[in-house]
Amino acid sequence: MNATLEFEDSSITVALVGCGGFIGSHLLRAIFERTCWRVFGVDLDSYRIQEHLANPRFEFLCADLADPTVVERIAQFPVVVNLAAICTPGRYMAEAAEVIRSNYDHPRALADACARSGSWLIHFSTSEIYGKTAADSGALLEDESEIVLGPVSASRWSYATAKLLTERYLAGLADLNWTVVRPFNFVGPFMDFMPGVDGEGIPRVLANFSTALVRGETLKLVNGGAAKRCFTSVHDAVDFMFCVFAVGRDPERLESVLSQAFNVGNAANEVPVAELAQLMRSVYASLKGIPESAVPGVEIVSGEEYYGKGYDDSLRRLPSVEKAERLLGFKAKIPLKEALEESLRWFINHYSTHETDVC
Ligand code: UDP
Repeated sequence: MNATLEFEDSSITVALVGCGGFIGSHLLRAIFERTCWRVFGVDLDSYRIQEHLANPRFEFLCADLADPTVVERIAQFPVVVNLAAICTPGRYMAEAAEVIRSNYDHPRALADACARSGSWLIHFSTSEIYGKTAADSGALLEDESEIVLGPVSASRWSYATAKLLTERYLAGLADLNWTVVRPFNFVGPFMDFMPGVDGEGIPRVLANFSTALVRGETLKLVNGGAAKRCFTSVHDAVDFMFCVFAVGRDPERLESVLSQAFNVGNAANEVPVAELAQLMRSVYASLKGIPESAVPGVEIVSGEEYYGKGYDDSLRRLPSVEKAERLLGFKAKIPLKEALEESLRWFINHYSTHETDVC
């Protein structure tokens, strides 16, 4: 690594690729609040980060990793965080080739450039690389769990395949300083989009349920909503990143973080999707001050009718959180209800001009 990451050192510039996205926008704000660093941010979209565009510590480039000159520029910085990705499940089936370009070709080019320049690449992968997990599968371990992806005809796995190959590529590049982050269903303000308003297609479950609640439509439970997920507040995710950065301040501790993949999730927040729907209905009712009976109900749909041909699912996605705790002292803290309340409150306020009230 090229530099020691003192938080007070204003000569350090961190490159944040995907700084305008859901996670990137939260991380950007936290870097400005908790350090003296400058940020070189790259994204195609800046609507979530308008408040930072005039900050003298911020340089924003509207571009993506498809451009080799952009990749070379990014790799000049000592720390590169790559959050850029197509990560909307609805697109994994219809646009598999584009999903693979975004999640393999582009990060691979960035990894090559970082290997040449000596930058530390902190790459955001996904918990989806654990693949088609069964309902009775146990906690997923970073360095031990077997991985089974569905068949090629189930194009849902295009994303996981590309992300997994990227992880293998990083691990195989001899000269690269890398760390991989595997998010487990992060939630919070600015997550995804509201279909037809600021995005098209099907976002992830929390944004889908929030949209349905705000529009007074039924919440769709794919295949009955039996699949389980561990929803993790984006604020915990940001704290995780600061545990990673803190290790970068101490050259003696670098082996705790270099050439390592980490699950970032909240195992205590595990819930079946059907139960999540009921929780969200109840949080919505209390935020709006209406009886739960006035909130839209649920409806069961098949995966194929909802997402299209090629949809498949992981039935349980439970992280082992032991490694992050042991090596970095990180443990997610924010309970499910608090994370849902914050997300839904933000969603209602943010999209209030498009709201069809149910009361
Ligand atoms: N899901 C659902 N209704 C929706 C959206 C998603 O029941 O409106 C289910 C989906 O089939 C999966 C789980 O919720 O079992 C989580 O889906 P999401 O798209 O949020 O991301 P994933 O965790 O699968 O990557």
